[in-house]
Amino acid sequence: MKKDDCIFCKIANGAIPSATVYEDEAFRVILDIAPAAKGHALILPKEHYDNLWELGQEEAEKVMSIAAKVSKAQKAALDCDGVNVLQNNGVAAGQTVFHFHMHLIPRYDNDNVMIPWNTLSYEDGEAMDVCEKIKTAMK
Ligand code: 5GP
Ligand code: ZN
Repeated sequence: MKKDDCIFCKIANGAIPSATVYEDEAFRVILDIAPAAKGHALILPKEHYDNLWELGQEEAEKVMSIAAKVSKAQKAALDCDGVNVLQNNGVAAGQTVFHFHMHLIPRYDNDNVMIPWNTLSYEDGEAMDVCEKIKTAMK
């Protein structure tokens, strides 16, 4: 399904031109318009999924395979020291465009890109409780 008012549907399907680094029948990988680093890429499915929760298993597997391919090319072409693979779901997670996309951000030693978080700690036994909750939800 494509969504009429979705900018990434239009870009992924070629209705709006983009700097495309990779394309196949189901995906397009473009350069982010406001990159954290030069070569910052976004993997877009051509079908509309709001987020990771809507993505099918088959598409999810393809996304990771494309991430591996493109990140290796970024490393070779840009001589970066690292790559962050980032994917935001929901406003709380910082998602601003509600068509699934995965970020591939080239990183350099001592660059100024920041993807920080404060760390928490678990009370005694809490990690196992949380672990069980997630495991149970997967059954
Ligand atoms: P999010 O915060 O949803 O994970 O990331 C959305 C990303 O899409 C941002 O990094 C933003 O710069 C990028 N973006 C938003 N609109 C456009 C656009 O029209 N073209 C391209 N190439 N990137 C876009
Ligand atoms: Zn869309």
